[in-house]
Amino acid sequence: MKDAAMPPQEPSFRESVDLMFTRAVRFMDLPPGLEEKIRVCNATYTVRFGVRLRGAIHTFTGYRSVHSEHLEPVKGGIRYAMAVDQDEVEALAALMTYKCALVEVPFGGSKGGLRIDPRAWDEHELERITRRFTYELAKRDLIHPAQNVPAPDMGTGEREMAWIADAYRRMNTTDINANACVTGKPLSAGGIHGRVEATGRGLQYALREFFRHPEDVERARLAGGLEGKRIVVQGLGNVGYHAAKFLSEEDGALIVGIVERDGAIWSDEGIRVEEAKQWLMRTGSLRDCPGTKFHEEGAAVLEAECDILLPAALEGVVHRDNAARIRAPLIIEGANGPVTAGADEILRDKGTVVIPDMYANAGGVTVSYFEWVKNLSHIRFGRMQRRAEEAEHLLLVRELERLSEDRGLGWTLSPGFKDQYLRGAGELELVRSGLDDTMRTAYQSMREVWHDKPEVGDLRTAAYLVAIGRVAESYRAKGL
Ligand code: GLU
Repeated sequence: MKDAAMPPQEPSFRESVDLMFTRAVRFMDLPPGLEEKIRVCNATYTVRFGVRLRGAIHTFTGYRSVHSEHLEPVKGGIRYAMAVDQDEVEALAALMTYKCALVEVPFGGSKGGLRIDPRAWDEHELERITRRFTYELAKRDLIHPAQNVPAPDMGTGEREMAWIADAYRRMNTTDINANACVTGKPLSAGGIHGRVEATGRGLQYALREFFRHPEDVERARLAGGLEGKRIVVQGLGNVGYHAAKFLSEEDGALIVGIVERDGAIWSDEGIRVEEAKQWLMRTGSLRDCPGTKFHEEGAAVLEAECDILLPAALEGVVHRDNAARIRAPLIIEGANGPVTAGADEILRDKGTVVIPDMYANAGGVTVSYFEWVKNLSHIRFGRMQRRAEEAEHLLLVRELERLSEDRGLGWTLSPGFKDQYLRGAGELELVRSGLDDTMRTAYQSMREVWHDKPEVGDLRTAAYLVAIGRVAESYRAKGL
């Protein structure tokens, strides 16, 4: 029993996910025992392996957790960070299950992690460590095109995925589908156009969809469209950078604040994201970034007045102690678990609308799914259709031009139309189309519950309801 006089403790990430799950299942009518079956992680494998580096043997600890195998392969990134532990990997694996279910990506949920500071090692050392980690996981089928397919996450990217794919291929020389053992690979190593930007792109599509519904916008005490909305972004890594770039350059939103490791920058006129990113890469900090004001106290900028807060770095950055001070009426979760369960309650009570991680950042796994399908079909998307589509469009354009001329109608197609209309969709266009459709459809399903069941009250709980319902349905279909 907890002492009633003690201040409530912040739950761990794992407990936060469990608390949110428990809140959602209260609104469901699951058969006895199924709730527990869905909630628990099926298995977590811990490996400790040694690699001889710099004249000594260094021991590394890694994890791969499988949360739910209701569909296979199971899917989820591999993270390289010093904070990696079993609790975190299991929470992230659970989120992957719900994320995939919500966006109808036919995978179970998994996640991996290696406790390492990737900045402390040279590239060739990281390669040896990654190849060894791959061997340890692959020999237990924890990397496998049909069973368990990793992807990038914090601290990893295309480079690590290429090493993983190559190491796996060397262990499985006759597997024609070996390339599908991991996603997020570079294009030259079996990757897909648009994967690097996918999570940021998904966030953009998610916000566009949200702003298509005036009633939803009103619930966040906002009005109008995305144009001119003032956004604070936390983290200028892959996710935060791409989301901020697309939202400012394509939707007319203003990125007024960017919070990074050592402080934050601010500009009322809107930060030029590309310049800030270049500055960060060149100097290692946002300090003195031209055209912006630097604040040492990055955490305070999270609480600044703005329309939208987009946390895109670590988990738990909005917690019990700062939640009440967050002024943004709308939060969209680019990271996994940036809002703790305790903070979620405070935000709910004060009417902040939170577009939850399992929906908002699902762009990454969605495009991973497309990459996996591409690898299994051994052909680039659009390769067969593109020119046929162009030829068909050309027929129509020619017919219109002929009609206009024959009948003396004097029609001229508007400038640019012909070019645009005649261009058949290549892989990038198809990936974007598939991602946009996925984000719209998933939002609709979440929103329906949010509106139809007033007792549910928030988008996160609605997302859990949809996701858990689908996982339960799949167990039922299996006769469990
Ligand atoms: N690590 C990303 C996530 O958390 C991507 C996972 C994937 O593509 O499998 O969603």
